[in-house]
Amino acid sequence: MSRRQLAMVMDLNKCIGCQTCTVACKTQWTNRDGREYMYWNNVETRPGSGYPKKWEDMGGGFDAKGNLQEGEVPNRRTGYGVPWDYNHDEIMSGATFEPSADPKWGPNWDEDVGGGMFPNSHHFYLPRICNHCSNPACMAACNNQAIFKRDQDGVVLVDMDRCQGERQCIAACPYKKIYFNARLSKSEKCIMCFPRIEKGLPPACAQQCVGRIRFVGFMDDEEGQVHKLVNKYKVALPLHPEYGTQPNVFYVPPLPGPETFDDEGKPIPNSKRIPVELLEHLFGPEVTRVQAVLEGEIQKKKRGERSDILDILIAYKHSEMFRIDSAVPMGEQHGQSTAPAPVKAPTKLAITRVPAASLSLGKVRRS
Ligand code: SF4
Ligand code: SF4
Repeated sequence: MSRRQLAMVMDLNKCIGCQTCTVACKTQWTNRDGREYMYWNNVETRPGSGYPKKWEDMGGGFDAKGNLQEGEVPNRRTGYGVPWDYNHDEIMSGATFEPSADPKWGPNWDEDVGGGMFPNSHHFYLPRICNHCSNPACMAACNNQAIFKRDQDGVVLVDMDRCQGERQCIAACPYKKIYFNARLSKSEKCIMCFPRIEKGLPPACAQQCVGRIRFVGFMDDEEGQVHKLVNKYKVALPLHPEYGTQPNVFYVPPLPGPETFDDEGKPIPNSKRIPVELLEHLFGPEVTRVQAVLEGEIQKKKRGERSDILDILIAYKHSEMFRIDSAVPMGEQHGQSTAPAPVKAPTKLAITRVPAASLSLGKVRRS
């Protein structure tokens, strides 16, 4: 366990599947040097197979007694898919628009396919990053003690000097959120944008989020919105808590959606468009309780009453959504009341060096 734990809450009722978070992460960290196929942040459609394909069937994590479970390393070609581009430059000379490869799978390959039949079809989006778990299976599985949690914020990192590329971590992570860099022969993963965190700024995926679905803060910051959503109001749930890794990314589950229609096209009263079984599969048995709480809060608002939960979820101010330093809300750190200061993009040198050289830079302390 780390001294403090940084966490993220994502409100799935507001995710529009725009992939801005994915692009923010990819352009900053994973668009070169053997990381091209990696998506430290991905947004998948549910119901769906996810990324990598069928990751929930690949094992890993811990059993109820705390024993590490066997897991698989996803296949590069069939699990992740081969990155491809399009022949943009040839279009003007009359070529047909075509991909540069013959893709069979990729991130959010099953975008918007969802489940059910018209007019009762349904889908929602599930954004995923490394959960920076309190009990990381990746760390437990590593024979070389190359994975560690930072004491000051619980961020889980790979020590590139120690990593031998043996991939036990990838097999052990039940979320498949750690990747093999074949060019470096090392494992790499989401770093929670720790160079930004150290400046009091949220991860790029959270700051860029168009739907303002992401809240970032310390779990022990009782004034923070993350603490309130997870611990006080208990409306944010971990993904697959049964995996035993104690994730620190939490989700406000989606509401059931509009009523379903019968064969004559009439709405069925109190029917649920998104099956509760699907949501319980992802977030456990608390889903129905959370949905009831949220419905109750919506009714309060409709009656003109105050709802602290909805006022948080509406996400009025970045300065309240992101409390990286629990003593000082982020906007105030930069002399602002509502929005964070613009961030200068890291240089290419910094991008490529941070994961590999963070220890030698003296920025990261092992716990
Ligand atoms: S999600 Fe996977 S890679 Fe991330 S800390 Fe947990 S076990 Fe490790
Ligand atoms: S940027 Fe926000 S709204 Fe868009 S896909 Fe990512 S999490 Fe969803």
